[in-house]
Formats: sequence, structure tokens, C-alpha cells
Amino acid sequence: MGANRKDRAIARRTFLGFAAVFTTAGVVGTITTDNAKARAAFDDALENWIASGDAVDETASAFTTAQTDAVAAAAEGSKVVEVTNPEMIDDSATLDALRASLDALVAAGLLTIVAPGEVTSETTAPDPRSTPEAPEGRDAQRAEAQKLATDTARLTEEAQATETSTADLEAATATALADIDAVVTSAANHGSAAEAPSLASQETKDAYAAAVAALTDPASGTASARISSYQQTWTAAQDSHAAAEAAQARGNTSGGDDDIQPTYINGILIANKTYRLPSWYGNGLTGDTLAAFERMRAEAASLGHNLWIASGFRSYSTQVKVYNSYASRDGSAAADRYSARPGHSEHQSGLAFDLNTITEAFGYTPEGQWVAANAHRFGFIVRYPQGKEGSTGYIWEPWHLRYLGVDTATAVYNSGLSLEEYLGITSVYS
Ligand SMILES: [Zn+2]
Repeated sequence: MGANRKDRAIARRTFLGFAAVFTTAGVVGTITTDNAKARAAFDDALENWIASGDAVDETASAFTTAQTDAVAAAAEGSKVVEVTNPEMIDDSATLDALRASLDALVAAGLLTIVAPGEVTSETTAPDPRSTPEAPEGRDAQRAEAQKLATDTARLTEEAQATETSTADLEAATATALADIDAVVTSAANHGSAAEAPSLASQETKDAYAAAVAALTDPASGTASARISSYQQTWTAAQDSHAAAEAAQARGNTSGGDDDIQPTYINGILIANKTYRLPSWYGNGLTGDTLAAFERMRAEAASLGHNLWIASGFRSYSTQVKVYNSYASRDGSAAADRYSARPGHSEHQSGLAFDLNTITEAFGYTPEGQWVAANAHRFGFIVRYPQGKEGSTGYIWEPWHLRYLGVDTATAVYNSGLSLEEYLGITSVYS
């Protein structure tokens, strides 16, 4: 018994020491002072252990059970324990037992141990006793809660709006991509349907074929880049064709089947039904013609008249197509009244062009009437005046201007004659 009593005394001292330690920790913490349940569990454990009487051999396990129960109860009441003065724990066995329990709690995520002086708001649970009791405090909390609820609703709304706009954006992007694909496919179809001119160089034809193939291949770049590349290649193919055609025409000339020369009468280049230009002649509107048109256009614009060149230079080969088209539609006799046979068109001279709308109605528009009365001041004449078909060979074409230079144009205008009448020449197909 003596031994048992001694052991129990040691155990009691130890347990009381543990209790003191626990209480000491609780003085500044949250367990023994604030958690009645933990305190009750501890007291029960202590009672049970004391009631165990002479079961000295079971002291250790009984103590451990009581300790575990107490700590578990404490942990259930609070996950935060502040150990502010561990030096007060002078019993190593108790300290070891406490440490083991605390470690278990920490491992279970139920306890956070904060070293002295390091207590922060993040690691210390809110103390319910600090909750303001004043009405304004409650109102402030309600306001804060309301604000949080409002913020949550707003954030939710914004998230939904963002989600919606993202979906819209994705849909619009998909639509745009589909449109681009359609355009590219259309361009590719058009490109493959439009054969490179037969006279273009093989190199140009190959480049064109490659550009058409690349049109529908997304790997060859952006849609706009692919279309741009195709357009540039097609333009190059047409230029190559024109160059080949011009070279062929010159070859024909040297071959002797088109060895005529342009006709100048009183220094004026003539292209009418009597006098034709060689097939190789012509290289766009002349610089003088374009400069004179620009001066006329500018003055007309200052008066509110809008002038533009609807049809300028036409090559011999182009005129072949134009005339043949009209002749097949209206017959050659009718076509000859308004369209020149190849080589006989003033459009091949680079000195003539058609303005605005190519209809007789242009002569009755403010633009047409201003042109008729003022074109000579810029070096132009209305080449096929009204009532002069007998000398010019063409019906009234108020839209067709011919560049002669200011002096000659003014002289012809003032004479009231057609150019053929003015020069005393004919315009009749041989
Ligand atoms: Zn014309």
C-alpha cells in the first residue's frame, strides 16, 4: 500500500501539475477558462483517475486516458491553444505527455500552437467575448454582412456576365472565322476558275496556281494575307500576259503583217475609221492627258461637278474583245456607229477617255454641259459632237474626250467643227 500510496501521490502531483500547466496555459488561452466542456471533461478524467484507488499499475494508462479525454474535449471546444509560458511546465513526464497530445492535435489539424509573442490575427481564433454588444456594433456588423452579401451577388453577376460575354465573343469569333473561310473559299474557287492568261509565262502560271492552292490552306498564313498574295499573283499574271501580248504584237510588226505607222496630220495623231494605229501602239494614257484631266477635274470639283474617267486606255487586243462583243450583240453595222474596230479606236492612242456614265444622258447632266462648254480650256474636245456623225463616223458621244492641247482644242471648239471637218479628212472604213 505504501508503495501504491507513494505512487499515487506522485501521480496526483503529476496530474495536478499537468492540470496546473493546463490551467496556466488556459489563463492566457481559451481552454480551461472559456471551454466549460473541456473543463468538465478534465475534471471527470481527474475524478476517474482518483477513483481508480489502488490500481497503481494502471496509473500511467489511467492518466493517459484522462489526459486524452481532456485534450480531446478541449480540442472539440477550441482549435486554438496559446502556450505562452512553457517554462512553467517543470515536470518532464507531464510535459512529454502534454507535448504528445498537442502533437496529435496539431497533426490532426485541430490545434495551432503559437509561440509567445507571435500571436497574430491569422493564427488566433476570434474571441467571442470581444464581440461588440453596442447596437451600433451590431448594426455595423449587419451592414458589413449586407455588404458582403451584396458584393457576393455583384461578383456572381459579374462572373455570369463575363461568362456570357466570353460565350458571345467565342460565338462571334466562330462566326467571323466561318465568314473568313467562306470568303477565302470563294476567292479560291474564283481563282481556280479564272485561268491564268495563256500568254503569261510558265513561271507566272506556276506562281498563280500556287497562290490559288494556298488560298484555302490555313497553314499558309492569315486569310487576308492569303487573299492578298492571290491578288498580287493574279495581277502579276495579267501583267505577264500584257507583256507577252505586246511582245507578240511587236513580233508581228517585225514580221511585216502590221508594219503601218501612226498617222499625224498637222501634228495631230489621228485614229478614226480611215486611219488606224498599229496593233503594237499604245502604252496607257499619256502624261499630258492625265495632267490635263486632273486640272479639269479639280476645277469641276470646285464647282460641285464630279468627274471621273470611266474608261481610259484600251490596248489593241482589248479593243478586239470590245468590238467583237458589240458586233456579235448588235451586228457589225450597228457596232460600227459607236465602237471602233481594232486599231481604229482613239482609246488605243492614250489621248482619249470616257467620262462618268457612257450614255447620251451624260450630255444633259450639269457635268456633261460644263464639260461641253469648258473642256477646251484644258486641252480637250468632245470628239464626236452632236450632229457630226457624217464626218466623224460616230454618233454623239458627249462622254468621249480627246486631248489636243489647249491651243488646238480651243481652235477646234471655236470653229464649231468636228476634228475631221477642221482637218479636212475623212473617217470611213476602207
Ligand atoms: Zn470612248
